[in-house]
Formats: sequence, structure tokens, C-alpha cells
Amino acid sequence: MQELKDIDIQGHLTIGGVDTTYLAKKYETPLFVYDVEKIRENARAFVDTFARLGVNAQVAYASKAFSSIAMLQVAKQENLSLDVVSQGELYTALQADFPTEKIHMHGNNKSVAELEMAVKHDIGCIVIDNFHEIDLLKEILANYQSEMDVLIRVTPGIEAHTHDYILTGNEDSKFGFDLANGQAEEAFRKLQEIDSMHVKGLHCHIGSQIFETDGFVMAVRRLFDSLASWKKNYDYTPEVLNLGGGFGIRYTDEDEPLQLDGYVNALVDEIKQQVVKHDMDFPEIWIEPGRAIVGNTAITLYTVGSKKQIPGVRDYIAVDGGMTDNIRPALYQAKYDAILANKANVPASTTASVAGKCCESGDMLLWDVPLANAEPGDLLAVFSTGAYGYSMSSNYNRFPKAAVVFIENKQDKLVIQRETYQEVSKNDLSYE
Ligand code: PLP
Repeated sequence: MQELKDIDIQGHLTIGGVDTTYLAKKYETPLFVYDVEKIRENARAFVDTFARLGVNAQVAYASKAFSSIAMLQVAKQENLSLDVVSQGELYTALQADFPTEKIHMHGNNKSVAELEMAVKHDIGCIVIDNFHEIDLLKEILANYQSEMDVLIRVTPGIEAHTHDYILTGNEDSKFGFDLANGQAEEAFRKLQEIDSMHVKGLHCHIGSQIFETDGFVMAVRRLFDSLASWKKNYDYTPEVLNLGGGFGIRYTDEDEPLQLDGYVNALVDEIKQQVVKHDMDFPEIWIEPGRAIVGNTAITLYTVGSKKQIPGVRDYIAVDGGMTDNIRPALYQAKYDAILANKANVPASTTASVAGKCCESGDMLLWDVPLANAEPGDLLAVFSTGAYGYSMSSNYNRFPKAAVVFIENKQDKLVIQRETYQEVSKNDLSYE
């Protein structure tokens, strides 16, 4: 059962205590609605668990999951750090007045402009991804007569997805330096010779939507195997270990994620064992949850339009959004739960597939889900759309981007306006 499935006496779905039919009328659809109390609850589950365990930590919200000024202001209020992967995400963080010393920058092809922006604003840390970046950053730091803390992003040879994790010798990934083939150590040696860059430690990110702790534990072991030899060879021990994000959430009843503190406990337990084994100081631990902070905190509301029944094949209902506000089903067959928000008490009596309105057969939001009988004008709510929904949205077919509303203390507040057609074509120049 979905965590945000609350129903009022009129049989309407509510979110954060507010009637979704009221929200749809006020702001129109498609509409993302976030329950801010739930965002804070998720953030605190991570932060408080580290505090309870007495471990120095930074919980860096991976803003790629959903970046907006309001969201980053909430992250700031919850004492999170921030992971950005582009100038645009960094720009949004600055607009939200996010403390720059708590911003970490990622990216497998950081541009000069991105690195310069990071240096100019003296952000907390750059996660070094490749040799080219070392050269670029060295030059930029020299030009700006500045210094930077860095982590080395390594690929530990573990790829984790939901219940599966795969151990590999050399990892075929566009990100980071391979531990097994010695490239990570080569990067470390190179960085040690550059006075303006301080190697705070290592970073790894093993995958997404992970439901078990084994992959994280394996990754920690592999990091420590390398660190043990770096200690011996270079007398180096890391101040920081960043274990990335990837903590899974429930999209449908098939998903059984751990409680968020379960991941933290497992990571801390394993690191405790490894530092004893290798006689090292306990490092500060950083993690980068994106989906686990915002994924289950939002719903998307759509208005039902046309229907198409193909006897013996499938019943389609079409809504006023689709792949432009949620590309995940089309991109990687992601599954979601949905109900008719204005008929939330009516038991599901049909099996329907929900199509988007883009001119693209693959523009489907849900396949063969149980739903009450939908009529044009009904309101469809899709659950757990808080991560990688709005942030991946596009203007395909020149659809304007949806609006985003935050709910807190039973109050609704518009935090991203619906795009207008003028805005959709604002960069077009005439050719006449
Ligand atoms: N950190 C890094 C380096 C990532 O690449 C990602 C996602 O791609 C994340 C953190 C956030 O992952 P998630 O949203 O699954 O927690």
C-alpha cells in the first residue's frame, strides 16, 4: 500500500492533508505535489541515524533527483549537504543560498566553466572523475590562486541494482577511476604532487534502487583493500569516505526497500570492522541519497481524457501528461502505482494502461494496472514520482513543463510555475 494514500470523507485522495481535487482545480494538471513533511522525515532518517551512532557524516542530497530553489531550501533547512553535477544545479543551489562549503560537485566531463564556477564559489569539494579533469582543475586553481578539497571517484567493481549485485574485476563504466587496474592509485599519486588539491578521500556509487546492503558492504571492503595498500605505500589514510546514493524506495507493492536507517547501520558496521582490521582512523562518512529523500514524497496528478478499448487486447486511458513529465517508464520500464484520485474509495474494477499524450507509441506511464472505471475528466494520481520526474522532464511536442506544489502544515504553495507557451519558445529566433 502506498505511503501517501490518504482518503478524505468525500472519497478523494489527499496529500499532506489537502484534497487532490482542490489542488487540480487550483493549479491545473499535470501537477507534481510534494509532501514536504515527508521530505523532512526522509532527510532526518539519515541524519539522525548517523548522529545516534556518533558518526561524523554528511548526508548530501543528490539534487539531480529533483532540483529547484524551494527543494534546496528544504534541504538546507534539514542540514543536508548537496551534490550537484552541472553548472545549472550549482546555479540553483546558489539561488537557494545553499552554504557553498556543503556543496560537492560531480561529473564525468566537467567543463572549464563548471570547474571555474565551483572554484570561484569555493564549494566544499570536487569529486575528481578522470585524468583530464585533474589537469584542468590544476590550471584553474593556479589561475585563481586557490585550493580545493577533492575526493577521487573510484569504481570498486560492484554494480548493484535492486536485489542483484555483480562483482566485476575491471568495471566498464564512464565514471571514475578503476581500483582493480591501478588507475585509481595512479590518480592518487598524481594528485599527491599537486599542492592546490587536497585528497580528502574516496568516492564510489554502486548503482540505484538498491534494496539490500550486501553491495554497499562489498564496496566498503574493496575500498579498504586498496586503502590498506595506500596506507602502507604512501602513509595515507582518508579523512572521508563517500559511499554515494542508490538507496531504494517503494514504487509498487513488488518493491520492498529497507528502512533508511538499515543502510546507514550496515555501512557504519562494516566501516567499523575495516578500520579495526587495517588499524586506521574512522573516516567521516558521506552519502548521496537522491531518490530516497524525495522519491516517495510526491504524486503527479493528471486529468483523464480519451479512452481506447481494444477487445481482447487492452484498455487504454490517456492523460494530459506522460513522458514529458515522467520519462522513466519509457526509458527503463519503471513501474508505478496509481489510483483515480476523485474516486479513491471506489474499488478497482478494471485493468487499464495509461498512455501519455505525446506523439510516440512508447509514451506510456503504466501498463495493465488495476483501476476504478475511468471517465474523461477523472483525476489520476501516480504515486512516488518525486525523483527523476520533474528533473528529467522535457518539452517534447512543445508541451510546457508541469507545475510543482509543496504541501506543509496542510498549506499548499506553488514552488515551480507551469511553463507558458511563450516560455517554451522563448529561445526561438525568427528566420524571416
Ligand atoms: N551519487 C551519484 C554519483 C549518482 O550518480 C547518483 C545517481 O545517479 C546519486 C548519487 C543518487 O542516486 P539515488 O537517487 O538513486 O540515491
